[in-house]
Amino acid sequence: MSQQQKRSDILSLTGQFSERSKELRYRYSIESSVRADSRLALILVAVIFAMFGITDYNLLGLTPNYYLLLAMRIAVTGSCLVLAFVIGQIGGYAQRAWLHALPLWILAIGIILIVPLRPESLSTQITAIVVAIMAFYLLIPNLLTVATLASLFLSITFLAASMLYAGVTPTGAIRLGLLLVMANIVGYSSLRRLERLQRKQYALLNDERAQNRELTQEIKHRKSLEAQLRMVAERDTLTGVDSRSHFMKRAEALLQRSRLEEAPFCLFMIDVDHFKKINDTWGHTRGDVILTKIAAVCQQSLRPTDIIGRFGGEEFVVGLPHTSPADATVVAERLKHNVEALSLDNEFKDLQLSVTIGVAVATREDDLDALITRADNRLYEGKRDGRNRVVASS
Ligand code: GH3
Ligand code: MG
Ligand code: MG
Repeated sequence: MSQQQKRSDILSLTGQFSERSKELRYRYSIESSVRADSRLALILVAVIFAMFGITDYNLLGLTPNYYLLLAMRIAVTGSCLVLAFVIGQIGGYAQRAWLHALPLWILAIGIILIVPLRPESLSTQITAIVVAIMAFYLLIPNLLTVATLASLFLSITFLAASMLYAGVTPTGAIRLGLLLVMANIVGYSSLRRLERLQRKQYALLNDERAQNRELTQEIKHRKSLEAQLRMVAERDTLTGVDSRSHFMKRAEALLQRSRLEEAPFCLFMIDVDHFKKINDTWGHTRGDVILTKIAAVCQQSLRPTDIIGRFGGEEFVVGLPHTSPADATVVAERLKHNVEALSLDNEFKDLQLSVTIGVAVATREDDLDALITRADNRLYEGKRDGRNRVVASS
């Protein structure tokens, strides 16, 4: 989204998001801070409003008007404190903007009532009104619309009350009106700026979060893709054992390491006997199933440190690090036996599975290809001599 679009998301007059649901989400997001700030501000304002009772006493003494003012101050202060408590309990202005408007209107009425009861102190009250307007806009957290309406009500009624009860002349009213307009413009502009800034910040934060989510999703997707690709490259799709190229890579590393550690390394070439006949009798698809089972049995017959790959067709290759020739022969015999003992479905009951295995032991000079060739030669000897056997280097 462009910067221009983002800016037009916020209404210029009210400083709110044009989209209602977005505005509500924003208000919910600031609910807890609004709750705490409103409570604190209302308590502060209520205490200040009550303290002006001292001025009332100084100006009026114990007159009926003083008692009226005192009653009014108690009512306003009490209402503000009750509302501070209620707002602190039941939340921000996502749903109950009116609840937040209530203290402003009660305070406004209280302040205006001072004019008829203490008309001679108008000059002090003008200062108090300007301070109150600033407090409406900036001290008590509220929506711009709520603060503006309450401030305008306070300004207009104060002006009217001054003319009616404090003898302010039309010229004086114009001067006073200009002052109040100015205070309202300053308050409105400041709060509007604040509202817009906060919403812009919120929108940016949300965008960033969405981007982060997308990025995390993308990373997850790529990782799974990478794992799939690796799987395809490293595994033989039919049997699940290592692909030939991956086996060669691993075997090369193991052979080198064995050489460095001067440990023995052996290699098998395994070929399924008469597999062509199996395919001819049961079909290629069944042949695939049997081949998969043979691969699984071969793998199960090895130790976790051994590696096995499909060399091609029905041929498998096994690398056995840290394995002496005698141990390798034992493992090969076990593997051969396990293939023979492989349990198959009833339809294959006449099938006698077997494998021939050529075993080669690595010498100092061997590279992997030489080792494979030697194992292959042993395998060929085994086939020639009747199959179903293990042939190790002489
Ligand atoms: P032997 O090794 O005992 O000499 O006889 P053989 O019949 O196994 O001989 P050969 O290696 O020549 O034939 C292997 C057969 O394996 C040929 C081919 O049709 C079959 N084969 C190779 N790859 C696959 C495969 O992926 N699936 C199936 N079903 N058959 C395969
Ligand atoms: Mg073969
Ligand atoms: Mg074969």
